[in-house]
Parts: sequence; C-alpha cells; structure tokens
Amino acid sequence: MILCDPAQGSSWIDYGIMIPFPPERPQRILNFLAETAKNSAVKAGSVPGAVHQIDNSCWQRLPSPCSDQPEKTRNTPHLPPIYHHLLRVHAQDYLDTLFGLHGEAALEQTILNVYELLDDTGTPHRYDKTRAVNPLTALFRTVTLARLEGTYHAAQYALETDEHFCFYLAGGNHHARYATGAGFCLLNDLVYAARRLQAEGQARLIWFIDVDAHKGCGSTELVTYIRNGTNPYPFEKHCNILTLSAHMARGWPLDEKTLAHAALGKAPCLPSDIEIPIEAGEEDLYCAKLSAGLMQIEAMSAGQQCDLAIVVDGSDPYEYDGLASSALLKLTRKQCLERDMLIYHFLRERNIPSAWTLAGGYGERAWEPAATFLAALNDNRAG
Ligand SMILES: [Zn+2]
Repeated sequence: MILCDPAQGSSWIDYGIMIPFPPERPQRILNFLAETAKNSAVKAGSVPGAVHQIDNSCWQRLPSPCSDQPEKTRNTPHLPPIYHHLLRVHAQDYLDTLFGLHGEAALEQTILNVYELLDDTGTPHRYDKTRAVNPLTALFRTVTLARLEGTYHAAQYALETDEHFCFYLAGGNHHARYATGAGFCLLNDLVYAARRLQAEGQARLIWFIDVDAHKGCGSTELVTYIRNGTNPYPFEKHCNILTLSAHMARGWPLDEKTLAHAALGKAPCLPSDIEIPIEAGEEDLYCAKLSAGLMQIEAMSAGQQCDLAIVVDGSDPYEYDGLASSALLKLTRKQCLERDMLIYHFLRERNIPSAWTLAGGYGERAWEPAATFLAALNDNRAG
C-alpha cells in the first residue's frame, strides 16, 4: 500500500522557504507508477498500486497559536490528543513552544532555526518573506503534525493489512531531538509512531532502518534517552527500539561545526545500535555493509520477534540529489534500488511488517529512487 497526504503537496515557496524541497515528489512518484503500470502486465489494484489518502481531520482542528495568552497551563483542555502522545517523545517545554503556548513569535523563531533560514548574523538565508503567501508558523500544522499522523497510520497499515507493507510518501524526520528540532525536522514522526504503537500494545520490538544520507541524530538521541530513563516516559517492559543507520561517514551533522556545537553544551550525536558509516567512494561496498548490518540487528534482537520495521528510505544518497550537504554519498539509481530491495526482502523473509517513509531527497530528480523501487515491487508481483 502507498499512503499519500494532500497536505504535503503545498509549495515551500508559499512559506517563503527557498530550500530545494520538491513539493511535487509524491505526485511524480505516483505518475511514474501509473505510467509503468500501463506499460506492463500489472493489473489495476495490484500492490502497491492501492493508494490511500490519510484522514487529516485531527490536526485541522488545532487552534491557532495563542500569542495573546502566552502562559496557558499545560492542562489546557484545548490541547489535542496528539500533544499528549508527543510527551512520550519530546520535552514538554519544547512542545509548549511548538503548540503556541509561548506565543507565535517563539514558534516562528523555532521554525527559522530548525529550517536554517537565518545565517550566523541573523540575516535571512534561503528565506524570502516577501514571497510567502502563508505565515511561516502555519507550517507546524500543515506539514509537521500531518507527518506525525501519516507515519503512525503507515505503521498501522503495515501491522494490520495482509500486505504488511506501507510506503508513506512523506515523513522520516529523523533529525528532531528531545528538546529541539534540527535539519528541517521539528518533531520526530518515527519515534512518535513507534512509542504510540508500543503504548497502545500494537507492537513491542521495533527496528528503525535508516538509509538516509545523513545520520539521524535525533532518532538515536530520543531512543537512547527513553531507554536510559532520561525521558520521563521510559519504555514499557519488553518494549524497545533498535536502530540501524547507514549514512555518510562525514559531513552534516557529523561535520566539525555541528560537533563543535555539541561541545558547547548541546547533546552530541549519539550512536545507533548498528552504525554503518559510508566513506566517500565506498558506494560499491554499500549494500554488502548494509546486509551485514541487517544480520547484526537481527542478532541483537536475541530471538525476540521484531513486530515492525520503520524504514527511513531517504533518496538523498542518490547521485543526482540537489542538496550540497549530501554530496559525499553518490549511489546510482541501480544501487538505490538494490538497497531498497535488500531491506524489503530481508524483512519479508522474516515476516516483519514494514512502514517506509520518504525522508530526505532534494532537487528535480529526488522522486526517482522511490519510484523505481515501488515500480519494481509492482513488476515482481505481476510476474
Ligand atoms: Zn538526509
């Protein structure tokens, strides 16, 4: 199953953001699948041709940030259920900022920081307010909260449907940390989905398989904090998340400047359970290293069945990615397909349901890796 969300289709320029996020990426993936299906033996309704749109009613009902009432109490009844679910993941004070309890200016400043829209001198960078037709703060409701629910629903579909596979055409905000956002990620939809499912008794052991170009420091921090009890909501008995990450060995967020920030008091980039750093020029070794990592995460599970894998299927390792900070990893389209098929078959052979998120991917050709993977799945099933 493919899960899409119309809320993710809005143009970033409408908020004044000039980062090369391709808003049409989900639609181009769907167009490609429709085109390839027309040219093959795939029957209508075959998987993953079934496309579902998610119900976004829960965040549409959210109130506007309350700049005139900055000191509302945390028990204010207008706070939606999603806020309370988020307390299992993020620091309460940070959530209060995002949900407008500290005023609209604080929310706007947080978005400016997380989307890196100001340079070191405070001058706008990749941000042109004159081109915005929506307030920047609206992003929180239209994009961030929508992704939380999307990833959660994708995981539910993976658990509940016979297919045990759902690809969500958004999500994967793996840089969001416990008390702050980072790298275009305000909240961590991956840990949100996992923690909510565990609290609801829908899953116990969950694996994160993160193959975005950038290391997901937010996810590793959150999982470590929860596991160690630093987060006030520790894991329920027998619940856990194991993390695997294959990422650029150098560059953001592992570059000197970012790590220097860590030395100044911010949390360092904590390791995943299975770390697979890929040096520039090691693309030919990528799948062999990933395969070994998958075997390791299975061994680390010590015989406990993994109930769900959440895959952070970034397209930014692709050689034609448009973001400068992903330039140290250049997988070809074929290598991206091998990567995805390796994960897919590994999980399928073990009857592990999987929810996939689109994660990073920038520029004109960012739709190609996921589209190629999903079309290949269609071909396999048709054949
Ligand atoms: Zn990335």
